[in-house]
Amino acid sequence: MRISIIGSGYVGLCTAVGFASKGHEVICVDIDEEKVKKINNSETPIFEENLENMLKDAISKKLLYATTNINDAIINSDISFITVGTPSMLNGDMSLEYIKKASEDIGNTLEKKNSYHVIVVKSTVLPETTEKIIIPIIEKDSGKIVGRNFGICMNPEFLREGKAISDFINPDRIVIGEYDKKTGDILEKLYKDFDSPIIRTSLKTAEMIKYASNAFLATKISFINEIGNICKKLGIDTNEVAKAMGLDKRISPHFLESGIGFGGSCFPKDVSALINKAKKINYESKLLETVIDINRNQPEKIVEILLKKMDIKGKKIAVLGLAFKPKTDDIRDSPAISVINSLMNKGAKIYAYDPKAELNAKKIIPDINYCKSIGEALDNSDACLILTDWPEFKSLSDKDFSRMNKKIIIEGRKVLENVDNFEGVCW
Ligand code: NAD
Repeated sequence: MRISIIGSGYVGLCTAVGFASKGHEVICVDIDEEKVKKINNSETPIFEENLENMLKDAISKKLLYATTNINDAIINSDISFITVGTPSMLNGDMSLEYIKKASEDIGNTLEKKNSYHVIVVKSTVLPETTEKIIIPIIEKDSGKIVGRNFGICMNPEFLREGKAISDFINPDRIVIGEYDKKTGDILEKLYKDFDSPIIRTSLKTAEMIKYASNAFLATKISFINEIGNICKKLGIDTNEVAKAMGLDKRISPHFLESGIGFGGSCFPKDVSALINKAKKINYESKLLETVIDINRNQPEKIVEILLKKMDIKGKKIAVLGLAFKPKTDDIRDSPAISVINSLMNKGAKIYAYDPKAELNAKKIIPDINYCKSIGEALDNSDACLILTDWPEFKSLSDKDFSRMNKKIIIEGRKVLENVDNFEGVCW
């Protein structure tokens, strides 16, 4: 099939190379000219395992190109995925700015297109958004009618950054929210080479499945962090507790690792948006509000442990890891940012190292020292905080830390395996 992808960020680009790897012709659209240029040069604007190889492969087979021209992309495709961002606003509401603009652009192009076109909303949007906001905009701007001249589906994406490509190609399930059977059938056909269960449902149910999934995972993390905080006070290693809990099939070991809290571009914003949506329909989501509260306070736990050990004013603190999780360069809502801001407010000098996230971090926390290696960060430092569980930190040994001025090491994520004296945020 000929596919256009509107928005070529983490989700859009992974979706694009994923479909191209199945032999479909894909056009990536973005408003960011630099991104478009990079993609056409086979360079990935983001870091994601295997993305570069797959992009190069798709471009060399002439199955993928990028453009800023949404008109051409829609005219030359049969199905368009909307994968633009839906960031949080300051009050926690979901911003629909990009979704509305993309819907207007699609509507304006469909006005000139005679053949039936399918639109698939893949961005995470709150229940009722496709029906009450996206469809009316497209109908108004195209002068056409959904179900007659164009079709629409809501197909939430569940990929995890750091494993985005393999998650896209081997998803646990594919959810197709459909306006009508005809459009759902077209989208199901597109996924025919994927070996995953397909759930077909209504538009708003599909939207809710995504929010419920993220809210559940966020709840599981805040739950184990709460247990971890209690364990810490009792001198119990929370990881032993979690390991035994996870063997219970009803619980499962996934998302049962305590630490400095969840971050990234999805969990914080999606849970907050769901809480606000519930409020608007007169429901107070006490559980989800607590999930967010626990998470907001969790990064400070590692700072509290450090402050019990030393006065940090004027001291060199090595920070290993800035990304919100390993194997990504994404630092959106990374707990490392809260930790670093708190340390700086207390007068500490930060020397940070991250294998991939330095460029993105510089845009948000420019006033710290960025190091090119773990050793540079550790040299003569008075303490070291590990904030991302990058695999390369696993092999660090006592010898690596011997270059520190004082050997105070605190992990915010369980990662060290060969070091004798260190403490964990909840262990
Ligand atoms: P992103 O910010 O990385 O990418 C969005 C892209 O859309 C940007 O490149 C931006 O320039 C582009 N864009 C904005 N307006 C546009 C327009 N009118 N036309 C064309 N391009 C436009 O965002 P992302 O992380 O890929 O997330 C996209 C959506 O997918 C969000 O709703 C997010 O919640 C959801 N999601 C994200 C993940 C994830 O792990 N990142 C996982 C599942 C779902």
